[in-house]
Amino acid sequence: EGRGIADRVLVAGARVAGTACAEVLLDRGAHVTVYDRADSERLRSLAERGATCVVADAFDPALLEGVDQVVLSPGFPPHHPIAVAAREAGLEAFSEPELAWRLREPGAARWLAVTGTNGKTTTTTMLAEILQTAGLRTAALGNIGVPLVHAANGPYDVISVELSSYQLHWSSTLAPTAGAVLNLAPDHLDWHGGFDAYAEAKAAVWRGGRAVVNLDDPAVVALAKRTDAEVIGFTLNQPEPGQFGVALGFLVDYTGDAPVQICSVGDVRPAGWHNVANALAAAALARQAGVAHRDIGEAIRDYTPEPHRNVTILRAGEVTWVDDSKATNPHAAAAALAAYDSIVWVAGGQLKGVDVDGLAARFATKMRAAVLIGQDRAQLADALARHAPDLPVVVLDGGDDAVMTDVAARAAGFARPGDTVLLSPAAASYDMFDSYAHRGNAFAAAARALVGEAE
Ligand code: ADP
Repeated sequence: EGRGIADRVLVAGARVAGTACAEVLLDRGAHVTVYDRADSERLRSLAERGATCVVADAFDPALLEGVDQVVLSPGFPPHHPIAVAAREAGLEAFSEPELAWRLREPGAARWLAVTGTNGKTTTTTMLAEILQTAGLRTAALGNIGVPLVHAANGPYDVISVELSSYQLHWSSTLAPTAGAVLNLAPDHLDWHGGFDAYAEAKAAVWRGGRAVVNLDDPAVVALAKRTDAEVIGFTLNQPEPGQFGVALGFLVDYTGDAPVQICSVGDVRPAGWHNVANALAAAALARQAGVAHRDIGEAIRDYTPEPHRNVTILRAGEVTWVDDSKATNPHAAAAALAAYDSIVWVAGGQLKGVDVDGLAARFATKMRAAVLIGQDRAQLADALARHAPDLPVVVLDGGDDAVMTDVAARAAGFARPGDTVLLSPAAASYDMFDSYAHRGNAFAAAARALVGEAE
């Protein structure tokens, strides 16, 4: 704590968060240099406001001359030349949430933070709903919504903050009132350089001293063994004293003298055990802000799920079409694949260095067929072939929206009454689409065009 903001700052990467950082720093009168690979409207407007803007394909270390600190976009991994050069020059480098933390004014909102491989957005939005139900002024921020640097000094009592492993890696002092690690499974390994580094980054969410910990996830438990923070555990099993858990079909808080029921398992939406875990984490965080159990239960019952997360698009000819485009890694895809019986699986994209053999081994027997797209489609096809040599697998080339028309047609050709056509890609979307939302919308549009809105 106690580390501030320097006078001369380099902001590397001028997308939404980077631009917001540059704006806030300029407002404070700092000398700001902004570097990006590509020119943009945003960059031009920053130049008008007094920033020195540099557009170049390759990073020139001369940019660091006369600079005291570096604010890095999540796109910059620790092995990026800028990060390496900053380290060698002994400069502090950090992310937008860390800047927001350092800029907090007296009386600014407390932070309750959520990280994990999957479930962050669901848990963060659920938590914001809980805080709001309790009458607290709040917002869901971080990886979602308005940039933290613009909102952290806003009119809030407590904010619900989603933090990615990238943002946490590039943090050094931010210390939420309490932080949850929902789960840990391989993802973004190429960015972090391995699973241990990825996990270690997430532990930063506990810096404030209160750690909400998924007791059912061995990797999270192992990480928690190394923290000094007070541990508040949650489990899908019956809770022991000091834990949140599930008993007799209810979500339960047993951190007090006696277990207190929060709501029933059936109240949690989207349905699924992974989401009950998310709700327990949100409840545990809300309790750290003193929210009453009654308010937590009411908010969970009223929660509206976010799109592209295991959402049924339509049913036609007794076939259900599901958009789980947000499943950008195998761990998330596993949650969806576990939820249906006979599946035509639509998958593929960028695997980011994550292995899919285990996913194929676990779920290939539930599949009617698979339709594979995207950059790493061959790797998925190989994994399925190893575990289910007889499974019909179609591998489609093509790199834009149009491929979803083929996907829908091929999937419909395989599907039998009672089947689910499930887009749960296990991979990132950026090779073919702007975002997971774009991918999910393209899939839904193709499905509707093909089979209509029947039933
Ligand atoms: P994140 O913000 O971490 O990406 P989301 O809430 O957006 O998380 O969900 C991402 C994907 O992971 C969706 O496909 C969702 O169904 C799945 N998912 C959500 N919570 C969990 C969980 N606790 N464990 C595994 N998968 C999950």
